[in-house]
Amino acid sequence: CGIVAYIGHREACPIILKGLKRLEYRGYDSAGIALLNGDLNVYKKKGKVSDLEKFIGDSNTHAHVGMGHTRWATHGEPNDSNAHPHYSTSKRIAIIHNGIIENYAALKTVLQGRGHQFFSDTDSEVFINLIEDIHQNNNCTLEEAVRLALHEVVGAYAIVVLSAEDPDKLIAARKGSPLVIGVGKDEYFLASDATPIVEYTNEVIYLNDYEIAVIKDGKLDIHTKEAVQTTPYIQKLELKL
Ligand code: GLU
Repeated sequence: CGIVAYIGHREACPIILKGLKRLEYRGYDSAGIALLNGDLNVYKKKGKVSDLEKFIGDSNTHAHVGMGHTRWATHGEPNDSNAHPHYSTSKRIAIIHNGIIENYAALKTVLQGRGHQFFSDTDSEVFINLIEDIHQNNNCTLEEAVRLALHEVVGAYAIVVLSAEDPDKLIAARKGSPLVIGVGKDEYFLASDATPIVEYTNEVIYLNDYEIAVIKDGKLDIHTKEAVQTTPYIQKLELKL
C-alpha cells in the first residue's frame, strides 16, 4: 500500500516513520521498517504506525539507509509475519512491495524445490527469494538480479530492495504501482506518492513502468528492464504542505 525509503546523511528511521504516517490516509493493516547499518534489521507489526513505534521502542535504530511499508493485505491475513519488509531465505536481503504478484504460487513451488524457505503467506516474499535465487546462481550484482527477476514476475509492483552486502545501495523498481523519487542534496527519498517527500525537496522523478532505479554512493542510475540507461526527468513540485 504505502512505501517510504531514504538514503543519505540523515537518520533514516525518523524520516521513514514520519513518511509512513503521512501515507496513513491510504489505509493499511500493518506497518514495518528495515534499517541498514552493517546488519539489515527488520521491525514489523500488525496495526498502526504508532504500534510499530512502540514495538521499536528504544532499539538502536541508527542508520542512514532504510525503507518502510504500510500493508494492505491481498495475499495472507494481516499479522506480524505477513507484514513487510520481507527477508529472503538468507536474511541478507529484504523487500517492501506494493501490488500483487499473480504468478507467485508457481514461482514459490519452483523456489521451494531449490531450497528457499518461506516465513509468510504473501506473494511479496516470493519476489525477494526469486531475486536472491538469481543473485546466487548468476553471480551478478543485486541490481542485475532485480532486473532479471522483473522478467519472471507477472503482476503489479512497486518495490524497494536493500542488502546487508551493499551497505550504501538502494534499489527500486515499478510496474503498475506508482513510485516517486525525491532528489535532495546528496540524499534521496522514495515514496509511493509525493506526500512524504515534499517537506524535504520539490525535485521529484516519477519512475516509469519497467524502470529500475539504483542509488549507490550518492548517485542515481535509472535503467529499463532491458538494461537500457534512461535519463531521469526531474519535475519541480509546486505542492507545499
Ligand atoms: N500483495 C502484498 C501483500 O499482500 C502487498 C500488498 C500491498 O500493496 O500493501 O502483502
